[in-house]
Amino acid sequence: MKKFSKQRELILKNLNSRTDHPTAETLYLDLKQQMPEIGIATIYRNLSELWEQGEIIKIKSKTGPDRFDGNTKPHIHFHCDNCGQLLDISLQPKQMEELDNEIAIFANQIKALATSSEIIITGICKNCRKINK
Ligand SMILES: [Zn+2]
Ligand SMILES: [Zn+2]
Repeated sequence: MKKFSKQRELILKNLNSRTDHPTAETLYLDLKQQMPEIGIATIYRNLSELWEQGEIIKIKSKTGPDRFDGNTKPHIHFHCDNCGQLLDISLQPKQMEELDNEIAIFANQIKALATSSEIIITGICKNCRKINK
């Protein structure tokens, strides 16, 4: 079993305390304040280990570097094409169940069995639409 390093603990804590889905670079700049000796390579290595172990979510982006999320509860993402913000959309258990059923049906169209899914809706966020509600 791998040792749970201090750095790893800090990275996870930082990710869990925010909802902005930072990039490795953003995390690095942030954590450097607390741990001046930390290097970007350490951040990358720990993020990929945490991701492999299912402790965090990695969201790939067409337009920029990968984004990371400490929230592993079922939720879907919204990516704003205008400002680049990545927002969480939490689903009610009922909605999640309906979505899972639909996904199972889609996978079944090719006789596959769905075990997980990542949904990213893209579009224009509330702020960029200038809706103040
Ligand atoms: Zn936006
Ligand atoms: Zn998220």
